[in-house]
Amino acid sequence: MKRMQRAAGAVVGSAVDDALGAPFEFGPQGAFSARFPAPGAGGEMCGGGGWDPGEATDDTQMAVLVAESLLEQGGLDLPDIFARFQRWAAAGPKDIGLQTEDVLTNGMPWDLAAAVHFQVNQRAAGNGSLMRASTCAVHFAAAGREATMDAAHRIAALTHGDRAAWEGTAIFHELIRVTFEDADPLTALPDILAHVHPDHRGRYATVLSPDWHPDEATEFNGAVWPCLGSAVWALRTTTGFEDAIRAAIDLGGDTDTVAAVTGGLAGAYYGLDAIPVRWTQPLHVPLPGFDGQVLHLADLLDLAHRLGG
Ligand SMILES: [Mg+2]
Repeated sequence: MKRMQRAAGAVVGSAVDDALGAPFEFGPQGAFSARFPAPGAGGEMCGGGGWDPGEATDDTQMAVLVAESLLEQGGLDLPDIFARFQRWAAAGPKDIGLQTEDVLTNGMPWDLAAAVHFQVNQRAAGNGSLMRASTCAVHFAAAGREATMDAAHRIAALTHGDRAAWEGTAIFHELIRVTFEDADPLTALPDILAHVHPDHRGRYATVLSPDWHPDEATEFNGAVWPCLGSAVWALRTTTGFEDAIRAAIDLGGDTDTVAAVTGGLAGAYYGLDAIPVRWTQPLHVPLPGFDGQVLHLADLLDLAHRLGG
């Protein structure tokens, strides 16, 4: 498969699934299938819960902020990404993670804000750095395993002081990279785990193992481990883009983010052409704080192309 198919699939797939999952956030298991029993029937991009049909949430908005920084700065500029996050947070996005909001508004400099939050709260392993990783994973895929996992750590650390969040984001980056090389990401998991920090390897080995089921999660899926585990489970136990996303949203809980992570992986795996047009057509990504900017499909395709398609 052409690299651009996979790059666009990852970026657009994550955004589409964020928008599909948002109306079901904090809902019960099986809610998506109960409302849309027949796959392929249409109407799934329904909006609700404050979201318009096709409107992407903070997951995708932050992914776009990272992408625009990487492109405009010509590479990884951590203070610039942090400043964009702050500008966005100050503009009052419809949704923002509790921890992310605190870190971006606590008045500390970019290289201290997340660490200080972690020191004070001792809990910082939310899925908020994983959820926004589709664009940077695409950008750094060509740089190789070490570079993409390192970039993941550093971008995650802007808002998440807990290394668990860095490692989960790095695993996602590496899964995207191996998929771009036409390798099977699921087969690559044992190799990827070998490059996870030893303090965190065991917990990820559990949630990424072939016999793990999301029902076995020991935390709400707003935490990084079950979120990543659920996304990989959804990819592993289905055979197409649409079915993977249905499985992810049907898990309930933090549906927009579990779906956004699943959509990044499944989009890279199956390619842009596997994403239903009825989902990409209404997709739009508002960018609060950035002059009323709203990105549509063509804009996301352009981003994906410039990031590394
Ligand atoms: Mg969200």
